[in-house]
Amino acid sequence: MAKVKHESSWYPLEPGESVLDALLRQGVSVPNACRAGACQSCLMRAVAGPVPEAAQAGLKETLRAQGYFLACTCRPPEGTVLEVTGAEALRVPARIATLTPLSPSVLRVRLETDSPLSYRAGQYLSLIRSDGLTRSYSLASLPREDALELHVRLLSGGAMSGWLAHDARPGDRLQVQGPVGSCFYVPGRPEQPLLLAGTGTGLAPLYGIVRDALEAGHAGPIWLFHGARTPEGLYLTDALRALAEQHPQLHYRPCVLEGGTRDVAEGALDVLIRAECPRPVGWRAWLCGDGPLVLSLRKKLFLAGLSLKELHVDAFLPSVPLAQRLPDAGAR
Ligand SMILES: Cc1cc2nc3c(=O)[nH]c(=O)nc-3n(C[C@H](O)[C@H](O)[C@H](O)COP(=O)(O)OP(=O)(O)OC[C@H]3O[C@@H](n4cnc5c(N)ncnc54)[C@H](O)[C@@H]3O)c2cc1C
Repeated sequence: MAKVKHESSWYPLEPGESVLDALLRQGVSVPNACRAGACQSCLMRAVAGPVPEAAQAGLKETLRAQGYFLACTCRPPEGTVLEVTGAEALRVPARIATLTPLSPSVLRVRLETDSPLSYRAGQYLSLIRSDGLTRSYSLASLPREDALELHVRLLSGGAMSGWLAHDARPGDRLQVQGPVGSCFYVPGRPEQPLLLAGTGTGLAPLYGIVRDALEAGHAGPIWLFHGARTPEGLYLTDALRALAEQHPQLHYRPCVLEGGTRDVAEGALDVLIRAECPRPVGWRAWLCGDGPLVLSLRKKLFLAGLSLKELHVDAFLPSVPLAQRLPDAGAR
C-alpha cells in the first residue's frame, strides 16, 4: 500500500488511487477543480519521497525542480511513501475590487492582489475562496492594468459563480494561484495573421490577447470571432467595435446560432470562420471556451492547414462535482 504524509498525519492510498482522491476521501481539504491535470488547482509539493513523472506533466521546469506535482494525476505505485505540503507558497492574497455585470449572464470581477502577480494576458489562474472552494478563470486584463480582470459566466447552482453574483462584495478576501497556460501573445512576428475564436466567457482570454497584440504593434490581420447561442450571450460588443474602428487590422465578428442581425452574423462558429478565413496556413490561433467546441474547432483548423504548434487551446472544463469525486460521498 502507498501512503502519504500531510500535516503530520499519514493517509493510506487504495491501489490506483490518486493523492487528491485519497486526501479528500479522508477529510483533508485540498483545492481542486477539473481533476483532469489541466487547471493545476490541486498543485502540491513533495518534501520527501518519489513523485511519478506523469504527475508533473505540463508543469513549469521551476515548479518541477521544487517537487511540485498535480495531486489529481499522482498515482504512486504500491509501497511508495510520500510526504507532501500544499502549494500555499505559490498563492497570492487578493481582494475583490469591483463586481460589474457585463451582460445578464456574465460578471466582470476585478481583483487587486497584495503583491504583484507576474502574468501574460490570456493565461488563467485558480481563484481560491476562504473556505477552499477553487475554480479556474482566464485573465482578460493586461499586466500593466491595476487590477486582474475575470469574466465569470453565471451558472444556475454554480458554487463560485453563484457566490460571486449574489453574496460576494468588494473588499472580500480571496487567494489566487497561478498563472498557468500558454494562451498568450508572443511578439516577434508582427505581420503574422492571427485568429482568435471563443464562445461565451471564452472571450475573456481573447479580450486580453487581442489588446496585448495591438499594444505590441501587431500589424497583420487579427480575426476575432465571438460566438453565443443568442445575441444576449454576447458581451463587450461596443468596446470591441470601438477597438476595431481604431485598428483597421482587427476584424471583430460576433456571431450567434439564432437571432442574427445586420451586425451579428448567424450560423455555426466553424462555418463562419471557414467562410472568412478559408486557408489559415502560417497563421497563429487561440481557441477558448466550451471544451468540446474548442477541441472540434482545433481539429478543423489543423485540417485547414494551421500548424498544431501555432494552435493554443484553453478548454473551460467544468469542475468535477463532489459526488462524482467520492463514490462513497453519500454515506459520509
Ligand atoms: C482553464 C480554465 C479556464 C476557465 N476560464 C473561465 C473563465 O474565464 N470564465 C468562466 O466563466 N469560466 C471559466 N472556466 C470554468 C470555471 O472554472 C468554472 O468551472 C465555472 O465558473 C463553474 O464554476 P461554478 O462553481 O460556478 O459552478 P459549479 O458549482 O462547478 O457547477 C454548477 C453546475 O454547472 C455545471 N457546469 C459547470 N461548468 C459548466 C460549463 N462550462 N458548462 C455547462 N455546465 C457547467 C456543473 O456540472 C454543475 O452542474 C475555466 C475553466 C478552466 C479549466
